[in-house]
Amino acid sequence: MTEKTDVSRRDLVLNATAAAVATGTLAAPSPASAQAALLPARWTHEADVVVIGAGAMGLTSAIAAREAGASVIVVEAEQHIGGHAITSGGNVPLGGGTSAQKQHGIADSPDLLFHDLTDWSVVEPNGFPDYRYNDREIIRAFADHSAATYEWLVAHGVIFVDQAPDARGGNAVGNSVPREMHAAVMDWPMVQTGKPADPAVQATTSSGNGLMRPLEAAAAKAGVQTLLEHRMVALYRQAPHAGPVLGIAVDHNGTRLAIRARKAVIVGTGGSTGNVNFRRMADPRLTEEYCGLSGMPWSDQDASGEIAAMAIGASLWGFYNQTGEFGFNLTKPGTIGCQYGYQNLQWMPGSSVFDRARATGLRVRDWQDAIMVNMLGQRFYDETGLGFTTNNYNAINPYTPGSWLNAKNVTFKPNNWLNAAMAGIGDGHNGGGPIWAIFDADAVTREHWHPAPPHVDMAQGFFFTADTLADLAGKIVMRYQRVPMPPDNLQRTVARYNSFVESGTDDDFGKPKPLYKIATPPFYAAWATPVIHDTRMGLRINAHCQVMDMHGHVIPGLYCGGESAGGFSQHGLARATCQGYIAGHHAVTG
Ligand SMILES: Cc1cc2nc3c(=O)[nH]c(=O)nc-3n(C[C@H](O)[C@H](O)[C@H](O)COP(=O)(O)OP(=O)(O)OC[C@H]3O[C@@H](n4cnc5c(N)ncnc54)[C@H](O)[C@@H]3O)c2cc1C
Repeated sequence: MTEKTDVSRRDLVLNATAAAVATGTLAAPSPASAQAALLPARWTHEADVVVIGAGAMGLTSAIAAREAGASVIVVEAEQHIGGHAITSGGNVPLGGGTSAQKQHGIADSPDLLFHDLTDWSVVEPNGFPDYRYNDREIIRAFADHSAATYEWLVAHGVIFVDQAPDARGGNAVGNSVPREMHAAVMDWPMVQTGKPADPAVQATTSSGNGLMRPLEAAAAKAGVQTLLEHRMVALYRQAPHAGPVLGIAVDHNGTRLAIRARKAVIVGTGGSTGNVNFRRMADPRLTEEYCGLSGMPWSDQDASGEIAAMAIGASLWGFYNQTGEFGFNLTKPGTIGCQYGYQNLQWMPGSSVFDRARATGLRVRDWQDAIMVNMLGQRFYDETGLGFTTNNYNAINPYTPGSWLNAKNVTFKPNNWLNAAMAGIGDGHNGGGPIWAIFDADAVTREHWHPAPPHVDMAQGFFFTADTLADLAGKIVMRYQRVPMPPDNLQRTVARYNSFVESGTDDDFGKPKPLYKIATPPFYAAWATPVIHDTRMGLRINAHCQVMDMHGHVIPGLYCGGESAGGFSQHGLARATCQGYIAGHHAVTG
């Protein structure tokens, strides 16, 4: 069991500056400072295994470690558990021969899963490969533990929708066989609404609530100690770049704690795309205006795990998987007029984080009802254009594993809305700036929108309305609109678009038969800027999820998985839970 102790620093290898920490003249640095933390004068807590983050990877690893005999403390930065996992769709692509696959006559194996996820010949219609840059060691470990992780989740209370595995929600999960399972939400209250789902669909609705609430219960039952509002701010290592990891520094509402880990620290902090400077290492375009990270405001991805590990010598890994134009790393918004517009997540007033989300957003059913313009009021692409695609079961058909014909047979068809939206306005700045959906009162009627709070966020400048287009352009003032929108531009853009509606042809961007003029006041401008969704680069790990340093050596006592680990192109929950399962066991049993 976990315990709270005062452990003398005689237990530790002293370093020269520990006394300064003891006198309070030096504190453990914040992760952003990228320097190793000085050893604490005393430990405020200790356990065999300390897990950072109560998300998919963290809770899985915590339970696995506890059941392997370790005492476990989980620290979670937020007031609640769950991370992005609890906000997710609960689609879990664990395969390799699960009992569900067997029950439905689907022949899968670790080898087939491994070959699928390392098949160089699978490419998207824009030419980008899904799997070519995956780390073979990491994928082999995933393939070998995938089915066991599925059975483990079931044994720990996760109820999957009673149907054959399919391809729904899949994202770089392999072409050969269906692997996608769906966690049933059951009667758990949903964090998005604050309420349980309609009883009629609880057993058939897939949701991350149905994954994470059972894991939360299993962790409590196993005796895992979870400390909410405890934010890891640094890792303690015996010497800045040598020796084992000894524990973590934590900020608890302004109080600094030092938690000793007798065996291991497991980083499950969920990625880095909420950290502007960090994410720009992979893509310099991703400047501040991409502030609508999906999964926020439930939890952030501030790169704190990565930066703290880098400060003690850890290496990063797998940058292609972040920049490659496939999957959901970057997405076109599905709701507009709010900061958090991810297509598959809408925050409702009953949610405990609605005060931070501030608006539900307006869900767009048909992009014929709006045009999209940049900061200068200019259109840039067919509004019905899509984001990037991804490989999943049967996406290439016929498919011969490893055959060059797979790549050859793909019809080139780039989906470039995202690149056009991030192209910028030619003023030498990185980043595309805000994108605004412009529409009129008739569109509101057709879409059945309610263009007022709590549906739109007017207070923070994510939604504007005016009786003329010129006034509308003039009203668009908010922190990311770094140049005024010229009213003439917006008027000209709308007039030209309306002429395309009359002629039936979009001469500028080829929108399929533009249908509706923008002519009836009031007029509206709604935030419609690309949404960042996923981290797929991160710390370098080996098959056991041990973190590696810049010399290719294991950092003793440090593990990582999920979105904070690199080397794996797959989106989401399967990778996070499987790596949690691997790390939790290995941290205890070696
Ligand atoms: C809206 C949405 C839908 C999705 N749908 C799917 C889906 O259907 N299928 C799928 O496979 N994937 C899906 N995903 C992706 C999936 O949820 C994530 O990939 C997965 O949750 C990653 O697990 P993780 O443990 O790495 O991070 P998370 O689950 O995000 O957990 C990380 C935790 O660490 C905490 N933390 C961070 N920093 C610190 C710190 N310094 N100290 C303490 N705690 C910290 C965070 O607060 C968080 O609770 C979805 C994601 C979103 C946002």
